[in-house]
Amino acid sequence: MDKVVKSDAEWRARLSPEEFRVLRQAGTERPYTGEYVGTTTEGVYTCRACGAELFRSEAKFDSHCGWPSFYEPSKSEAVILREDRSLGMDRVEVRCAACDSHLGHVFHGEGYATPTDDRYCVNSVSLRLEAAE
Ligand SMILES: [Zn+2]
Repeated sequence: MDKVVKSDAEWRARLSPEEFRVLRQAGTERPYTGEYVGTTTEGVYTCRACGAELFRSEAKFDSHCGWPSFYEPSKSEAVILREDRSLGMDRVEVRCAACDSHLGHVFHGEGYATPTDDRYCVNSVSLRLEAAE
């Protein structure tokens, strides 16, 4: 995979302030505000920062958590998982493997009726949906 490496100044020039805050500073959009929370359109979700494919609509499910949720990435190597102990919580952060941008967090074993019982809880602003033809 081709790694995408840019300076903060380059990312700021490419991204909106909200995209920069979430993708490059590990921010979180407010729940139920993202454009893809309820989206059921078929297609591929790519990284808003670098364009790498991250998730597919087939793995998106309605988790009622306020953010787009997927039970698995397109490919396991599309994302990087990192331990995140910020905010006094023990969570697993999900990043884009290509450009190291923050996507969201993954939670396991919550009891969702999905093939993996993983919930990749991803900010809409980290994604761009490329709808199928
Ligand atoms: Zn990326």
